[in-house]
Amino acid sequence: MRWSEQAIDTENASALPGLARLNNLITSVTTPEFAGVTFHEVVAKSALNRVPGGDSALPFGWTINPYRGCSHACVYCFARPTHEYLDLDGGDDFDRQIVVKVNVAEVLARELHRPTWQHHPVALGTNTDPYQRAEGRYRLMPGIIAALADSGTPFSILTKGTLLRRDLPLLAEAAQHVPVDLAVSIAVYDDELQQSVEPGTPTTSARLATVSAARELGLSCSVFMMPVLPYLTDGLDHLHAALAAVRDSGASSVMYSALHLKPGVKEWWFAWLEREHPELVSKYRSLYAQGTYAPTGYRSWLAGRLRPLLREYGLEKGQADPATGSMRSAALDDSTRSLRLMGLNGTGTGVTPGSPDLTIDTGRTPAPRAMIAHELPGGFRSQPRLF
Ligand code: SF4
Repeated sequence: MRWSEQAIDTENASALPGLARLNNLITSVTTPEFAGVTFHEVVAKSALNRVPGGDSALPFGWTINPYRGCSHACVYCFARPTHEYLDLDGGDDFDRQIVVKVNVAEVLARELHRPTWQHHPVALGTNTDPYQRAEGRYRLMPGIIAALADSGTPFSILTKGTLLRRDLPLLAEAAQHVPVDLAVSIAVYDDELQQSVEPGTPTTSARLATVSAARELGLSCSVFMMPVLPYLTDGLDHLHAALAAVRDSGASSVMYSALHLKPGVKEWWFAWLEREHPELVSKYRSLYAQGTYAPTGYRSWLAGRLRPLLREYGLEKGQADPATGSMRSAALDDSTRSLRLMGLNGTGTGVTPGSPDLTIDTGRTPAPRAMIAHELPGGFRSQPRLF
C-alpha cells in the first residue's frame, strides 16, 4: 500500500475527539479478533525519536515507538499518562485505544539512509510494547528490524510479548550484521497475581520460554524483573522462585527496580489495589506518600535482600555471556561512550548501576539499556509527540 496516496488531511468523523485533531489519522478499526480494542491507524511523519538530553554533537539516544497505548494493560505502566495528550484517559483507553503508525518501517528506512544518520543505537520498547497484540495484525517489526540491520544501526528491544518469537530468526540474522540486544520484562512469578496486575500479557512461563528461544539462537536476552512490587513480589519465596526460573531460562542478565508510581499512574494503581488487595492500601499510601519513588530505606532493603540471592543464583555482576564470551556489546560501548562524554552514567536514569534505585546484574550487559526501559522511571521518556 502506498501511504502517500491515502487521504490524510481529513478528520475521521468516527474518531475520538483528541485523535480527530490529528491530521494524519487514516481510519479507526475494530475487529472481532481484538474484541474491545480499537486501532487508530495513522501515518507517521517520522519514526526515530530523539531521547531528550542529547545535542546534535553528541546524540544521547534514539527510540522508535510503533504503537501508542498498550493492550498488555499493566496496571503500573509508566506510559499511561502519555495517552492524555490525545484526550484519552490513562486507564481503559490506554489499554484499548491503540494508535498504530502503519508506515513506520517505510519512514524509518528513509531516515536511516540520510547521510547525516550516525548509526547510534536505537531502542524499541521505551514507551509502549512493540510486541503487544496489535503487532500480530500489523507486522510492523519485521520491516523495522530489516531497516535497522540494513543501515548498520545497532538496536535493542524490550518487550513482554511472546510474539517476539515470530521474529527471532530475523533478529538472529540481523545480529550477524549489527549488535542486537533483547530483554523480556518478567516481574511477577505468581500466575494469579500476574494475570491480575498485567491482564493483557502472556503468561510468565510463556515469556520465560521466549527468553530461552532467543538464547538458543545465540541472541543476548536479559530479564527485567521490574517492577518489584512491595509486599506482593518482594518476599523471599517469590524472589527465589523468580531467580531460579530466570536462571533456568538461560537469560544473559537480570535487572530489577522497585515500583515507581508517578502521577497519572498512581491513581490507576490504587484503584486496582483497593479492589484486589485492600489490606495493602494504607501500607502503599505510606510508602509512596512522598511521591513517585519508594523511600530510600525500602530500596536499600530490597537491594540488601536481592544481592545475595543474585549471587546464589549465579546472576551477579560480572558473569560472562557463554554465547559470546563478551561482557558488553559493541552497542553498549557506543552508547556509554556518548553518555560518559555527556557526564552521565550508563543507565540514562540518573541512577548508578548497582544502586538501590536500579540494579543491573549482568552477564553481558544489554545494549543501550539507557533506552530500553519503558518500565523504568520516565525521566528519559520523550514527551509524546502528535506524530
Ligand atoms: S508496562 Fe509495557 S507491556 Fe505493560 S502496558 Fe506498559 S508498555 Fe505495555
